[in-house]
Amino acid sequence: MTVETKKETYLNYINGSWVGSSTGEVKPSINPANKDEVVGYLQMSTKEEVDKAVSVAKQAQKTWKRLSGSERGSYLHKAANVLESKLEEVAKCMTLEMGKTLPEAKGETARGVAILRYYAGEGMRKVGDVIPSTDSKALMFTSRVPLGVVGVVTPWNFPVAIPIWKMAPALIYGNTVVIKPAQETAVTCAKVIQCFEEAGIPPGVVNMVTGSGSVIGQALTDNPDVNGITFTGSNEVGKSIGQGALARGAKYQLEMGGKNPVIVAADADIELAVESTISGAFRSTGQKCTATSRVIVERAIYETFKEKLVEKTREITIGDGLQEGIWMGPCANEDQLKTVLSYIEIGKKEGATLLAGGNRLKGEEYENGFFVEPTIFENVTSEMTIAQEEIFGPVIALIQVNNLEEALQIANDVQFGLSASIFTSNIQSMLSFIEDMEAGLVRINSESAGVELQAPFGGMKQSSSHSREQGEAAKDFFTSIKTVFVK
Ligand code: NAD
Repeated sequence: MTVETKKETYLNYINGSWVGSSTGEVKPSINPANKDEVVGYLQMSTKEEVDKAVSVAKQAQKTWKRLSGSERGSYLHKAANVLESKLEEVAKCMTLEMGKTLPEAKGETARGVAILRYYAGEGMRKVGDVIPSTDSKALMFTSRVPLGVVGVVTPWNFPVAIPIWKMAPALIYGNTVVIKPAQETAVTCAKVIQCFEEAGIPPGVVNMVTGSGSVIGQALTDNPDVNGITFTGSNEVGKSIGQGALARGAKYQLEMGGKNPVIVAADADIELAVESTISGAFRSTGQKCTATSRVIVERAIYETFKEKLVEKTREITIGDGLQEGIWMGPCANEDQLKTVLSYIEIGKKEGATLLAGGNRLKGEEYENGFFVEPTIFENVTSEMTIAQEEIFGPVIALIQVNNLEEALQIANDVQFGLSASIFTSNIQSMLSFIEDMEAGLVRINSESAGVELQAPFGGMKQSSSHSREQGEAAKDFFTSIKTVFVK
């Protein structure tokens, strides 16, 4: 479509300039709380534009990698300061584009600032080890070298934090980047890229190209000059990216779905377990990869827990995330709403009992948005679809068990292994859970959602390609180790 509107049109960022796609084609980004509101228009780019971005990134990397770590870090520090100064604007844009509430969007933007500062500091930390050689006249040590050009492919659910937690470590270790953000939240990503521009990052070091995943996401991951691909998104897309990267010898990192369990033991602090379940399952409308989606409860306290959970769920205020007093916003887009509603139908058909929610919200204030009620099913068994597949929406499957052994067996009975929690006051139960739970993030008396930027983040099983993001662990993906022997 051709743009004739007051809304801003966002361009690609290639080699330090904002440029339109050669096709002239743009697509609107829509406010999920009011589908008639366009947030901005984005370029529908071509493979040629991706190839151009990769080629300038390849050229720029030759100079970028020669800067000292602290010089590269100073750009990240500046970008952090710019982002901090625009926190309100960026957070508001995020709420408009994907619906999470403004306080959550501000929290995420502040997290982006903190991640930039963390990795700016990484530029002054050690990059290798001295290893004693068996030859007394030799010096042997390891060094880290950048991969080269890193392709960054991101989802819509954390439009500031995920791009930054991939780009910041890529840059600090001497790589240059080409990012293809999710089209649904590419306006927010463009605002992040503007922060790098205002920080004075050299042309070609950071590039952004927007458009369809199957065209330009594919072009980016297929480009032979892209030496590493870091992806967060669905399992389906992640697996195909991984296969392509493997075939051409590129390094890849995939963070994908989850079906995160919470176990509530008979000796748990029930109030805490209820609060944490509500927050883990329904914040961000359940659209976090670490969101709680299965709640496995010991029979002895099941009825008490269930009553309190339903009561608290009914207190949730739903609406436009920009309004004060709103706790849960809409689904991020129409497809997402349809997916959630279709899983609710499947749950009913397979024999689960609806305890709360289950419908699209009705009423004047909701009719233009993609709002769904926070939903709880009981009488769920582990083989049901709603207990096995990632819904990525505000839906809880409640599962009753006789003991903790059974709870753990059910918690592990899925293809995913991202995050998992247990609520208990018994140290032995905590220890067995830490030992036997098949998940990359294991949390005790704490909700399943939530990560700290200085700690490794990633999943087991089908949730991840098993490398880790964030903290120092990111170094393992964004660099290669060289072993040096000097005599
Ligand atoms: P998605 O897989 O549909 O899209 C992710 C990105 O891949 C988008 O930028 C998309 O345009 C791009 N893409 C689509 N097809 C492509 C192709 N053929 N080649 C290259 N790129 C392509 O995921 P989504 O709907 O944006 O996000 C939701 C998913 O992300 C959920 O499954 C969620 O669990 C997952 N997620 C995981 C984590 C984690 O860290 N494990 C964090 C957030 C989200």
